[in-house]
Amino acid sequence: MQYRFGLRSRVVIEWVASMGRTVIQGGDVVVWHEGGHALMPGAHVVIEDDRVAAVTRADPGPADTVIDAGGKLVSPGFVNCHVHAGIDTQVLMTDKGAPGYYNSGMLFASASTATMANSGPAWTDEERRAAGLYPQVELLKSGVTTFLEIGGAIGDMELFGDLVGESGIRCYAGPGYEDATWVLDPDSGAFRYHWDETAGRAGFERALAFIEARDGDHDGRLRGALIPARLDNCTSELLRDSQAAAETLDVPISVHAAQAGFEFHELLRRTGRTPIQHLHDLGLLTPRMILGHCIYTSGHRMTAMPPGDDLALIATGGAAVAHSVSVFARRGIAMESFQRYLDAGIRMTFGTDTLPRDFLQEIRLGAYIAKIVTGDWAAAHTRDLYYTATVAGADALGRADLGRIAPGSKADIFIADLRKLHVGPVIDPILALIHEASAADIDTVLVNGRIVIEDGWHTSINEAWLLDIGERVGAKQRATIAARNWQGKSEDEIFPQTLPRI
Ligand SMILES: [Zn+2]
Repeated sequence: MQYRFGLRSRVVIEWVASMGRTVIQGGDVVVWHEGGHALMPGAHVVIEDDRVAAVTRADPGPADTVIDAGGKLVSPGFVNCHVHAGIDTQVLMTDKGAPGYYNSGMLFASASTATMANSGPAWTDEERRAAGLYPQVELLKSGVTTFLEIGGAIGDMELFGDLVGESGIRCYAGPGYEDATWVLDPDSGAFRYHWDETAGRAGFERALAFIEARDGDHDGRLRGALIPARLDNCTSELLRDSQAAAETLDVPISVHAAQAGFEFHELLRRTGRTPIQHLHDLGLLTPRMILGHCIYTSGHRMTAMPPGDDLALIATGGAAVAHSVSVFARRGIAMESFQRYLDAGIRMTFGTDTLPRDFLQEIRLGAYIAKIVTGDWAAAHTRDLYYTATVAGADALGRADLGRIAPGSKADIFIADLRKLHVGPVIDPILALIHEASAADIDTVLVNGRIVIEDGWHTSINEAWLLDIGERVGAKQRATIAARNWQGKSEDEIFPQTLPRI
């Protein structure tokens, strides 16, 4: 494998040039036409500074930068509405768990009340920087030009805000906060909530200060968002105050909700209401809300509850859902179903959650699971998947200028070269993209009119460096989980290798 080094000086020249007039020449362009996506073969996209000026088959005129897109697909960038933007090791939970944790890998990796203060190996400044940049480069390479960061995965939101400047991506973010954490009983391993409302309130105040200070940084690419992290870990007061602040600050709000079997039954026990009914009672199911995952709704076979009004409440309130597929599929859990939610009128978006953050893979798996769960080939039509991945994500963030290519929209665009053996004949480019292509087929990505991925590589960030540091960070995270294990098990006992090492 080859990596590109020492590109910084060349890139500076490109970036300066790209802030004039750029033409993406002669591609199959997905253009916003009469309120919907349409394909315009052999068209040119004219970009002036950070915005699309025109999509035309006429002579586009002179340009500072010309990108040849002949025979390629030119698409609006994807909008990813749920990302934990660090180097996470959740995939290590695959094939492992304990029977009492409702299929959850998160509880399996939780600390006990006796070990929760154990911090594990410390990170260096370089590791923290790389851990923040890693997901941003990864996302860009799979065509994602905007993402919602949910939870402050590198533990330093100020640094994270700076790194958004470096990667060139567009990001909504704010430090996550909550009143409680999940812990395990040190004797039995039984699951408990550890409440600390002072810490929750302090986290909320930090989030408000972050948004106040950083919203609009990097030519508007960094925007604020409020993240009361998990519904079952937040008091009603914190949730209500967060919603009110989101209105005042005019930012999106997102919470993990209806994401786990234990959470569903805890909310029923605590309030007599499902997680969705509880959010409805608190007035949080508004168009500003993006519900993280939202799988355990009434009628889901794993809730042991008949179909109720959960989906209607979400649709009527106008909240969006960030549909994360792979991270749940790995635990034997599926939404029931993507199509049923769409039919109910819910604003669906995709969110990759953890590694791998391969957006095309996430969409494709979402399609297959929706078709299997419903037993219906017509479920999850490719057109609906593509809308969910673009316009619907943008609308959930309140952005009519993202997720579509139209005069006046932001020039957030990816170009995919689909003429590859594994793709086959490209008779229907969107079908080929969603059902046959891979992230590696995306060769160029622009955000705010600037080229950030060129020939498949980030224009200024050394990917070999990201990989090297990523290995170190992953090893430290594995060690941290072991340091906090409730039974004092070693790393190898918790995470045995799939094959024995000889
Ligand atoms: Zn999540």
